Amino acid sequence: MSSTRPDHVLIVGAGAAGLMACRELLRAGKRVTILEARHRCGGRIYPLPTSEFGYAAEGGPEFIHGEAPQTRSLLREAGLKISPIEGVRWNVRDGIFSKADATGPDTDGLFQILSELESDLSVLELIERHFSGKQHDELRRVILRMVEGYDAADPARASAFGLRDEWVGRGLGNHGRVVGGYGALIEFLASQCRGLGASMQLGLPVKAIERNAGGITARCIDGRTYKGDAAIIAVPLPLLSAIELPRPAQQKAAMTTGMGFGNVVKFLLRFTARWWVTGGGKDLTDLSFLFTDLAIPTWWTQYPSEYPVLTGWLSGSRIQTVMHLDETKLVEFAVSSLAKAFEVAEADLKRNLVSARAINWANDPFAQGAYSYVTLETRKIQSLLRGSNGDDVFFSGEALYQGRDVGTVEAALASGLETARSLLAARQRVAGPTRM
Ligand SMILES: Cc1cc2nc3c(=O)[nH]c(=O)nc-3n(C[C@H](O)[C@H](O)[C@H](O)COP(=O)(O)OP(=O)(O)OC[C@H]3O[C@@H](n4cnc5c(N)ncnc54)[C@H](O)[C@@H]3O)c2cc1C
Repeated sequence: MSSTRPDHVLIVGAGAAGLMACRELLRAGKRVTILEARHRCGGRIYPLPTSEFGYAAEGGPEFIHGEAPQTRSLLREAGLKISPIEGVRWNVRDGIFSKADATGPDTDGLFQILSELESDLSVLELIERHFSGKQHDELRRVILRMVEGYDAADPARASAFGLRDEWVGRGLGNHGRVVGGYGALIEFLASQCRGLGASMQLGLPVKAIERNAGGITARCIDGRTYKGDAAIIAVPLPLLSAIELPRPAQQKAAMTTGMGFGNVVKFLLRFTARWWVTGGGKDLTDLSFLFTDLAIPTWWTQYPSEYPVLTGWLSGSRIQTVMHLDETKLVEFAVSSLAKAFEVAEADLKRNLVSARAINWANDPFAQGAYSYVTLETRKIQSLLRGSNGDDVFFSGEALYQGRDVGTVEAALASGLETARSLLAARQRVAGPTRM
């Protein structure tokens, strides 16, 4: 272990967590070099060109969930606004549209059982134990939609405590969108980092972090090396075990298979007009979300904005059926599912399609999935990973967040900040409090 305080921190990954850690360290007077595999910052925050959908559409995260204090504070600093989610949520089943909020099950019984749980169990076990009867059909549907859809989780692995943390006492909280998209937030953060003197190396995947007498060396796949005094590894969970790390960090990284990491295919379809507003013989002018019993179970609009764009969301076990499809086939699959939901001709939808994307996040080499979820082992593994590894190797990222909203931008920002502060504190302990 180095006995000198690190001046120079290497951060692997320029997602929300890496950038947030970077800014905090720079503000504390450290030198920082960010090594990022992609040719852009933001990671899973993936803004699509305005020309494609007519606005700053999101290929990755789109919503701000709940209180999200770090996100909201950063947005304020950046002078960015939040637009609240408005409109009406609808169900469509067998071609019949009904307002979702009017037909939702009584969740009080679920919340009661969750509140009284003394030991954790998987969501699947919870359902089998308490909600297996016919009378619970609708409640099971809602729980599974939450777990498989919203959390992109496997109910057999997802933690009932995790569900409780997320849901009980606040529902899903207030949702909003960043006006101008999450990309604007990343631009702000990255420009702050640059302004404070960060060196940003893009297009540079790191393959190993080595500890040697002089400190830490990051070895990149093109053979380049960067030297520093400490490193923060802020990559998504599946990528952690792809980087060679010094012990015990390597051993800890191997344990992350016990944490959950789900996948999502996000579909964006831009049409010539908002044809759906008269869908199903109803007035759907203010449609926000549409829940279906078809291949793609969730769609949403940009309401109150009137962009003629529908976004589809596929996650959980159903995703397996489309894993072999390329983007063109995925778009066809989405159009077909949508046509069935509204009982309109597929050919008409295709004719009115202006642009389309289908992003399967498992195929993204630097994400290998969408985001993490809480399993029965997550909290224990998080505690191990959040500790320092010889005071010079640290982990960061959404999956390490111990609050209730893992798998979010908020989680990544909070984790980045926390990791930077832990690093500063750890190094101060090593070097003593005299010089900073
Ligand atoms: C489809 C989708 C929808 C989502 N929806 C929402 C939402 O509505 N609201 C919300 O709050 N959150 C949402 N999320 C989750 C949110 O996007 C993530 O939790 C958050 O962006 C993760 O940030 P991070 O910094 O931890 O990781 P990342 O953003 O993944 O950053 C990690 C960085 O590490 C880089 N990297 C990987 N390997 C290497 C390597 N070997 N060398 C160098 N660099 C490397 C990657 O390229 C990446 O830039 C969504 C995610 C997806 C995919």
